[in-house]
Amino acid sequence: MAVRDRPAPPARSEPREIVELRQLRLDQPELAQAIDLQIELLQLQRRVLSRVPLPAMNLDGARLDAMLAAGTPILAFEQVPIDWSDLRFLVRSTADAMRTHEAIEPDDFRRVEALSRDPERLPPAIRNWYEKARPVPAGGGDVAPDIAGLEPLLLQAMRPFLTRCAEAVTARTMFQEWLHGNCPLCGGEPDFSVITPAAERFLICSRCTARWPFDQLACPFCLNSDRSRLTSFATRDGMYRLNGCDVCERYVKAFDGRHARRMVMPVVDAIATLPLDAAAVQRGYR
Ligand SMILES: [Zn+2]
Ligand SMILES: [Zn+2]
Repeated sequence: MAVRDRPAPPARSEPREIVELRQLRLDQPELAQAIDLQIELLQLQRRVLSRVPLPAMNLDGARLDAMLAAGTPILAFEQVPIDWSDLRFLVRSTADAMRTHEAIEPDDFRRVEALSRDPERLPPAIRNWYEKARPVPAGGGDVAPDIAGLEPLLLQAMRPFLTRCAEAVTARTMFQEWLHGNCPLCGGEPDFSVITPAAERFLICSRCTARWPFDQLACPFCLNSDRSRLTSFATRDGMYRLNGCDVCERYVKAFDGRHARRMVMPVVDAIATLPLDAAAVQRGYR
């Protein structure tokens, strides 16, 4: 049989998140720019994720639960298994992808380039981002001026290292001892949540994607639980909700597992709910 007659090898199967994003692009072409960027970022991150080792830390369940009960996020910066040449690659290529999809200002792009080229500056900048860009009781405060405004980019570049840690730790604890609105693993803020069929709510970390149980209604940012000052509304199909707080004027989006045809996929759902962000801003949330 001639070579050209051989059947083509099956296409390498794509991760489900990318399959869902491609479908979303067909259903909602107005989101194409954001979807194309996210697909590119996922592909970059997967290249690195496959070689990130497990974090060097004691994963004894009882020890983890004791730290959680004391209100201390589990993962110290020194324990994040960062390979600095991989991180430099991710910082640069994330900036390139964001520039291609018009998601970064030219001035910020130049700042990122300078940061990634300077082996002296990158590690302290990343530590500063990790330790400062999170609320009390875990840390808090403003990030250093040289990375201010670059947080979303650094978050994407750090994602493979942090998600590896989240995988390792969530195999050992469900974070039931943790009663705070910020992440029990890395201290980051939630930017999404999932409601289970039993109507429990889990918050999802914007940085490491760890999930932890939290009060069904209370605001994770200011802990307001006064029902008359909390607003909630759903998308028409019932798949997503928005929980807004009228005290601190912030909000969290939710994937409602009671009305969904699949599991939550934070990177997909964050984009599918961009119209919900617009609705929140219109109502005065930030
Ligand atoms: Zn986290
Ligand atoms: Zn609040």
